[in-house]
Amino acid sequence: MIRYASVNGEIRAPETRLKGLCPGCGNLVTSKCGTIKIHHWAHLRNMDCDPWWEPMTQWHLDWQDYFPKEWREKVFRDEVTGEFHRADIQTPTGITIEFQHSPLSVNELLGRNNFYKKLIWVVNAQNFKNNIRLTTAIPDPRSPIMNPFNFSVSPEGLASFPQYFVKDDLQHGPAVYRKGLSDEQLQAIADCHKSTPETYWLFNWSYKHRAWLNSKAPIFLDFGEDTLYWIRKREQVGTPLTYLQCIEKDDFIKKYAVNEVPGHVNRD
Ligand SMILES: [Zn+2]
Repeated sequence: MIRYASVNGEIRAPETRLKGLCPGCGNLVTSKCGTIKIHHWAHLRNMDCDPWWEPMTQWHLDWQDYFPKEWREKVFRDEVTGEFHRADIQTPTGITIEFQHSPLSVNELLGRNNFYKKLIWVVNAQNFKNNIRLTTAIPDPRSPIMNPFNFSVSPEGLASFPQYFVKDDLQHGPAVYRKGLSDEQLQAIADCHKSTPETYWLFNWSYKHRAWLNSKAPIFLDFGEDTLYWIRKREQVGTPLTYLQCIEKDDFIKKYAVNEVPGHVNRD
């Protein structure tokens, strides 16, 4: 299912009783403009030339629409193998953004991460929203102030290395373990935290999705709110810290759509 096809050399959205050519495989596609399904172009016999493509959802469409039309459904070809895929968004700075509605296996994710050079994922997390619980807000783990400290979520294994230990204690609230921290350091950490109070989070994920958690390409979870949650890792002594960083959806879009030509008509 594709949104754009070539009609007499022009890339167009589907209109009733129109025929076009698929920009990927070059085969004939026909417009489907019913009342129930999202308007799209279909290959004959409902085949899709891109095995990575998933059925179009409104969520998917809405995300593509935040970016200029010329950036949507860009076809990428591996000149050696001939393999090609349609990227949801390709920015002029060479960043690919994929909007993923269905779960992927670790191998499927790897295949895509290897195919695109600079890939970013936005994952529809609305279906597993209730499996993720933010537990404790933490100071920015990338702040230089935090460099000398290990983030630890469990009191076990506290080594001689200075620890910034946070635990969500239902009775007493979040606690900071003070091992090896001077009053000045604690104050600096508190100030650092105050500047971004609810931006970085420790979290619990029941039935966690390993592909998303371990992806080398950045993953942004979309719970259908104004805020996206970026899954981040901090390399440190011992176990790496996995945490979530809040990004306003508007800021995310602005960041990647920055090269848009002023006055350009964004939507169809
Ligand atoms: Zn095709």
